[in-house]
Amino acid sequence: MIRQRQKEKEPRMKQTNQEMFTIDLARIEGNGDFPCPNCGVSISPDDQTENVYTIVDTRMKGEDLEELTIQCNKCRSKIRLVGFQP
Ligand SMILES: [Zn+2]
Repeated sequence: MIRQRQKEKEPRMKQTNQEMFTIDLARIEGNGDFPCPNCGVSISPDDQTENVYTIVDTRMKGEDLEELTIQCNKCRSKIRLVGFQP
């Protein structure tokens, strides 16, 4: 789903001291949507429009997506997504 984005890693290096949240997708029920831990906006990992969030980092483990770091467009919080199912 999101893995084809891994090569367009843009250097979005804004030095902010925003808190980093971690979401374990393996513990989320349903279709994988979750609320932003800071502002509560609904985030869907399958949403590729970047209206709600922006992908800032992708970490692969072999062929599989291991970790995804996104930034909420509403409150600018960084959210680390772990627990992707292979
Ligand atoms: Zn937010």
